[in-house]
Amino acid sequence: MNADAIIIGAGACGLMCAVQAGYLGKKVIVLEKNEKPGAKILISGGGRCNYTNQFASAEQFISANPHFVKSSFTQWTVDDTINFFETYGINGKEKTLGQLFPDEKNAKDVVQVFTSICDDFGQEIRCNADVKDIEILDNHFQVTYEKNGKKIVLTAEKLVISTGGLPIPKMGATDFALRFARKHGLKIVETAPALVPLTITGKDEEWFAQLSGNSVFCEVSNDQISFEENILFTHWGLSGPAILQISSFWRRGEVININLLPHHHIVSLLDEERRLNGKTLLSTLLNRFYTKKFTEALGKFLPLGKPVASLTNAEIHLIEQTIHEFKVKPAGDKGYDKAEVMRGGIDTNEISSKTLECKKIPNLFFGGECLDVTGWLGGYNFQWAWASGFVIAQNL
Ligand SMILES: Cc1cc2nc3c(=O)[nH]c(=O)nc-3n(C[C@H](O)[C@H](O)[C@H](O)COP(=O)(O)OP(=O)(O)OC[C@H]3O[C@@H](n4cnc5c(N)ncnc54)[C@H](O)[C@@H]3O)c2cc1C
Repeated sequence: MNADAIIIGAGACGLMCAVQAGYLGKKVIVLEKNEKPGAKILISGGGRCNYTNQFASAEQFISANPHFVKSSFTQWTVDDTINFFETYGINGKEKTLGQLFPDEKNAKDVVQVFTSICDDFGQEIRCNADVKDIEILDNHFQVTYEKNGKKIVLTAEKLVISTGGLPIPKMGATDFALRFARKHGLKIVETAPALVPLTITGKDEEWFAQLSGNSVFCEVSNDQISFEENILFTHWGLSGPAILQISSFWRRGEVININLLPHHHIVSLLDEERRLNGKTLLSTLLNRFYTKKFTEALGKFLPLGKPVASLTNAEIHLIEQTIHEFKVKPAGDKGYDKAEVMRGGIDTNEISSKTLECKKIPNLFFGGECLDVTGWLGGYNFQWAWASGFVIAQNL
């Protein structure tokens, strides 16, 4: 045998698993297709890496089994993530909504933590190692990878598949885990891009495009959930944190509701303004909350040039609907090229929630994004990747 375990994929989960296995005195070999480990960590959070969320719990995860992550999150908590990085000189700074980023450091430093601990423990990370095949033999796994056109075979008693999800194929994302799972009869929960910008086409396209670059604080909702954050208009549709969040819950053909003024009620504001100064134009009132550009764009729907005192009941109703129930029917999403994560994945019913071992194939473990566990935007996906990497390491 070449090692106690082979880990396929040097992403967030695989790297944490290698490090934790090192603490336990287990020797692993990590195989990574890219020329460097941690490609997605490096680009995450705009290169700053939102590495966890202070409020992470099972509630911010989408999965056919919402309880699945609970055991992992008990074994490896948010405090464990914070302490782990602090030990290696990365202190967390909250940006917003509990999102922790390295203070005065960046994503490169996060990857460096893992590579230097791996060096210390002699855990090998072999890059440019594209795993092509896994054979399940009597009491071990035989893994074949290609490096510089050469086929190399390794064996180990335990195997970890942490090859991530489908987003950003040009960064090395593969369907390796999903293909392997299918081949071995493991169920898969249908996959789709998530945390992804949404596109608008047809008659509304121009209206959205004119606002390209504008950002508005909103409440975005569908019949399942709502998020209060910014939306960003682009020349092809909508992005920004609130849209990325709702995209994970959005299904093609569905209308989403945007409350453009979530912390106020426009009818009350109009009533008050009519009492104080009925001559105020609707545009003047709206400009207190929006950029001039955005108010002007609302002119397509609203009588901006009218003094508030002369608005009819029908107009007030229209204003209320437009501001608080702005309906958008996205044409689609920007796909895996722009998605931050994958929704769906290997069905968690196939996996022990306590050990992350595959129920049908003993000594094989799955962790990270390839499983049907999808976090909200805000550091949750890394918390899952670290936690699952830790849990697997305990069982190698
Ligand atoms: C642009 C962007 C920004 C993000 N920002 C954040 C953020 O700030 N906070 C957050 O929590 N989450 C963020 N995410 C999500 C986060 O990056 C992922 O959820 C996380 O990296 C998943 O970890 P993983 O280990 O499962 O997979 P990955 O980190 O994707 O690692 C899988 C690895 O397996 C390798 N691999 C695949 N197939 C093979 C093969 N056949 N042979 C060998 N190696 C293989 C891949 O090259 C890859 O390195 C972001 C994602 C993107 C795309």
